[in-house]
Amino acid sequence: MAEPAIPALPPGSTIGILGGGQLGRMLALAAARLGLECHIYAPEADSCAFDVVRHATLAEYDDEPALERFARACDVITYEFENVPAATANFLARRKPVRPDPQVLALTQDRLVEKDFIAALSIATAPYAAVDSGGNIAEAVAKIGLPAVLKTRRLGYDGKGQRMIGRDDDPAEAFRSLGSVPCILEGFVPFEREISVVAARSSQGEVVAFDVTENEHRHHILKISRAPARISDVMAEEAQHMAETIASAFGYVGVLAVEMFALANGAGRRVLVNEIAPRVHNSGHWTIDGASVSQFEQHIRAVAGWPLGHPVRHGRVEMTNLIGAEVNDYPRWLTEPGTSVHLYGKGEPRPGRKMGHVTRVFGEG
Ligand code: AMP
Repeated sequence: MAEPAIPALPPGSTIGILGGGQLGRMLALAAARLGLECHIYAPEADSCAFDVVRHATLAEYDDEPALERFARACDVITYEFENVPAATANFLARRKPVRPDPQVLALTQDRLVEKDFIAALSIATAPYAAVDSGGNIAEAVAKIGLPAVLKTRRLGYDGKGQRMIGRDDDPAEAFRSLGSVPCILEGFVPFEREISVVAARSSQGEVVAFDVTENEHRHHILKISRAPARISDVMAEEAQHMAETIASAFGYVGVLAVEMFALANGAGRRVLVNEIAPRVHNSGHWTIDGASVSQFEQHIRAVAGWPLGHPVRHGRVEMTNLIGAEVNDYPRWLTEPGTSVHLYGKGEPRPGRKMGHVTRVFGEG
């Protein structure tokens, strides 16, 4: 999957982005600061990334004439969400460079394929077993034990498509409740913290990781990220090394995030990989205001063939998501010392919808 070093695109070039959510919006804003243009392609008319670019395509992912025109208008193409259909990415890759390589999408869209890939790199994960659509769940439970977490292999996010199975629960019922689709059963990890590493890899193969971030979820949705994570230096190095190994093994070009579980000392392997997001990530939003180079700028630099930055963190940083109606608190945040406010320009603040975030930087740390 390694790609030959790419000539750097000059300022004024156009980066195509598949997906029109807040990640695309923040990528386009970072590109603008570097004198690069973005062209957003998304099927939803109310895509908030459309608002910050001059060039946009509103079309379905299987609209080949629209994809053809989009490819012609762009110098390189990337994505802001990982469930872009493989056929779309491949159609575009036959016309223009697509970074990261579409094969990475195929690997990360299926939790079982992804776990096998990670395990083949000798990187630790929760113990896992496949559950096929025929429902061999009893076999998987016999292998993994309970409690365990049953997840659909495809299309899961923010806790959707997964069920915790306790010792007294009926595994077959849990499988049916997820629609009897192919699943993966994972042993429940008694983690101390959830952490993530956001790392960038350039087309020349250089990998630069941000400081490890500690993540707190509410109702399965990321609520707060803190950098640096409260873990030992040895653990932080181990976590960064895992992300760097994964990025290099993919021959990745761009930013990816690796979500991990940090175990308390004495609980066996110290860091386990949970999942890979082949894109910029919510747990890296703190880098916009909290570091000299943001995750969005790193991604734009990498896909444009530019050298990566070497980010310096400005202090101890805390990012809080504004979810649903919490966005209505923005006037309070606007006057909070040391706080940067980001509103995504989405319309209705529906429950669970990520509407914005705030970042606070606290002196040294
Ligand atoms: P995921 O969709 O894989 O990111 O999982 C969503 C959340 O469920 C994670 O952030 C964890 O809080 C929890 N979770 C997922 N897998 C496990 C596991 N094997 N053991 C314990 N908690 C888990």
